[in-house]
Amino acid sequence: MNKDRETFDAVVVGSGPNGLAAAIVLAREKKSVLVLEGRDALGGGLRSAELTLPGFVHDMCAEVLPLTLGSPFLRTVPLSEFGLELLQPQIPLAHPLDGGRAAVLDRSLERTAQGLGGDGAAYRRLMGPIVASWRPLLEILLGPFRWPAQPSMLARFGLAAILPATVLARINFRQAPAQALLAGVSAHSMLSLERPISAAFGLVLAMLAHAVGWPIARGGSQRVADALAAHLGSVGGQTRTNAHISSLAELPRHGAALLDLTPRQILQIQETELPRSYRRRLARYRYGPGVFKIDWALEAPIPWQAEACRAAGTVHLGGTLAEVASAEAAVWRGDHPARPFVILAQPTIVDPSRAPADRHIAWAYCHVPNGSTVDMTSAIEAQVERFAPGFGRRILARSTRNAGEMEAYNPNYVGGDINGGVQDLLQLWTRPVARPDPYATPNPRMFICSSATPPGGGVHGMCGFYAARSALRRGLLASSRG
Ligand SMILES: Cc1cc2nc3c(=O)[nH]c(=O)nc-3n(C[C@H](O)[C@H](O)[C@H](O)COP(=O)(O)OP(=O)(O)OC[C@H]3O[C@@H](n4cnc5c(N)ncnc54)[C@H](O)[C@@H]3O)c2cc1C
Repeated sequence: MNKDRETFDAVVVGSGPNGLAAAIVLAREKKSVLVLEGRDALGGGLRSAELTLPGFVHDMCAEVLPLTLGSPFLRTVPLSEFGLELLQPQIPLAHPLDGGRAAVLDRSLERTAQGLGGDGAAYRRLMGPIVASWRPLLEILLGPFRWPAQPSMLARFGLAAILPATVLARINFRQAPAQALLAGVSAHSMLSLERPISAAFGLVLAMLAHAVGWPIARGGSQRVADALAAHLGSVGGQTRTNAHISSLAELPRHGAALLDLTPRQILQIQETELPRSYRRRLARYRYGPGVFKIDWALEAPIPWQAEACRAAGTVHLGGTLAEVASAEAAVWRGDHPARPFVILAQPTIVDPSRAPADRHIAWAYCHVPNGSTVDMTSAIEAQVERFAPGFGRRILARSTRNAGEMEAYNPNYVGGDINGGVQDLLQLWTRPVARPDPYATPNPRMFICSSATPPGGGVHGMCGFYAARSALRRGLLASSRG
């Protein structure tokens, strides 16, 4: 790049959903914006590729997109005009148990409750008020800490959400299916289910299943990145790939720099002009467990024993509440569970374009200790086989990535942590450090816009949205385009 001649109001480093969202917010305000991406394709956690065999299109990272559809900011971006189609599987989520049964999280709260038998009334009582307030709740939860306009609504949610998922499940439900269902959705937190606020993640994901569904992008999640980038281009923003940044001195002249990076990476960037005290605080930032991921090319759909699993976009494998909780607790102790909790998605049940005719793909990961290089292939495949005997015979090819390889693929996944840092009570709203404006840094021209800021991991773009607003508020982006 000829940085001597170029000047931008803002340069965004990293093109994940948060980097692209930040750039869109700024470009819509008629600021000149350039996004620099280290890899050869835009999108960060939104890339898709033929990882196994020709014609089988796998999502390298994010696959299931309730946060994309629910995101207050992304709802304002006309992604469908730029080719994005979100497909809804018949059932968002099934959680099989031994013996051929499964708990089902249906689009309809009522059908979900009916399926939970004796725990149906308790499910209605727990989820009914939360689903009724999903929009204002999401506005509050997907952002920095603020005093809510409707404190009573948040308080009602907060009383359940602050609990460990194991406690909330046992207080509310008596039977294995409902307890297991709550354990599975809560395990997306990547916290031990015995830790406070692990329930919050489960409640939000269950709420989204009823409110907007758990969709999958036709053609793969890369289409979300492509649509975001195309919209950015339409409002005047520019992007460049193969532009890995190691020093802010490498950037063209700019008013503000927004980094779609997490603290450990920021500490490695030169010329950030951050004071030692802030650097020390960044260095104390905590990363959580990593993931081990598998993608399969399959000759036929997965032969689930429980019928509901065949129509579910996502399937949670791990058995009962006690089993899921024990697997997640083991990861936090630094162990690799023999029976890991596995999150599996089967996009080809709604999107046949992702594989050659009559063939299928599946995507799965389990949690592992941060930085793990252990191969979890057999442990994950044993969990699938447990609920779908004969699965192994349908595998045509597989591609795997351990936690260390996840970080090599995308440096934002430090040690394989896909949420950009632990999302516990202490760090959820104080990420990356506790400050009134967590997106701003002591360098008045540098902002952080990655999932290491509130509200954390997921494809919602809200970290980028709030970081861009912070930059705009500080009035650094003076030279607007005509
Ligand atoms: C296996 C896996 C499964 C997931 N599943 C889901 C899911 O189903 N649903 C969901 O909502 N979320 C999911 N996520 C999480 C989601 O992908 C992330 O939370 C999201 O992508 C974070 O967005 P971001 O913009 O903060 O960072 P990222 O998407 O990580 O983007 C950061 C970008 O910065 C670039 N970069 C890094 N360093 C530099 C540098 N020095 N110079 C230039 N560029 C640089 C990287 O190459 C990358 O493109 C998953 C993640 C993984 C890994």
